[in-house]
Amino acid sequence: MLRLFGRRAPQTGRALEQTRRTWFSRLGGIFQRGLDESVWEELEETLLAADVGVATTEAVLRRLRERVRAQGISDPELALEALKEELIAVLDVGGPRGQLWGREGPWPRPAVILVVGVNGSGKTTSIGKLAHAFRAQGLKVLLGAADTFRAAAIDQLRQWAERAGAEVVAHQQGADPGAVAFDAVAAAEARGVDVVIIDTAGRLHTKSNLMEELRKVRRVVQRRIPSAPHEVLLVLDATTGQNALQQARYFSEAVGVTGVVLAKLDGSAKGGVVFPIAHELGLPVLFVGTGEGPDDLAPFDPREFVEALLAT
Ligand code: GDP
Repeated sequence: MLRLFGRRAPQTGRALEQTRRTWFSRLGGIFQRGLDESVWEELEETLLAADVGVATTEAVLRRLRERVRAQGISDPELALEALKEELIAVLDVGGPRGQLWGREGPWPRPAVILVVGVNGSGKTTSIGKLAHAFRAQGLKVLLGAADTFRAAAIDQLRQWAERAGAEVVAHQQGADPGAVAFDAVAAAEARGVDVVIIDTAGRLHTKSNLMEELRKVRRVVQRRIPSAPHEVLLVLDATTGQNALQQARYFSEAVGVTGVVLAKLDGSAKGGVVFPIAHELGLPVLFVGTGEGPDDLAPFDPREFVEALLAT
């Protein structure tokens, strides 16, 4: 297990401001009107508009109704608290946060993280931020440029590596991504690297080829280190709402995602998409992107997230 952040990152609350102001701040006001049928309808509409998704909204409201009935809740404050608890419960999948590698047990060395996601989602930036966080702990980090489809992606990864003080293994544009991944892992073993982070392609117009390519990268890494990859992180763009959910479904079926990095939470009004990601796909959101700088990555904590979302 590796704890990536020793202290709570305060950025989450700020990054959530847009989502909170646009949708979730309404919830407290809705409860103020009592708990009649029209209130339940309005709650449903608000959660749906906030990208919580149909299945998750229904599940949350069903449990909330049961809780309200069983506990005889009529006070608006208590009803809001009950809603918070239900939302936290939805997010509570996959163990402790801000930690990696199965999130328990010994830490594999080198630890291999495969990072997947569509182009533009914030993949390279998130890799740079992760590299920065590992380096801040004094760990030796190597980045593998297995997105060989775009020359710009290789350059961008190099820049982040330089900034973070990480090593890079890259081939030419158009090279076999599997070969890059293999070389990255082999170099990491030879050089005593602690963490290898492998960037992958994310072009969506050739979806089935892409998924085959990612599966191959995975197999190649596994051939070198049978327990690897130790994490497969999916980077999703928080500003895309329900689209992000579709992508999550697709990638997790194809390559076995172990956790989500939700990038661009700052400036998004669609942060509510974390609920269906957890509820419908059972995927833990591990980190959130809160800006474009190297420090703008925060561990995701369900309670902290929901408290910030429903703060009045
Ligand atoms: P990739 O194509 O998936 O590798 O995406 P990039 O890492 O190149 O990111 C695409 C754009 O999103 C860039 O302009 C990044 O600076 C920006 N970006 C990435 N993560 C965040 C974030 O958490 N917050 C904000 N505001 N911008 C981000």
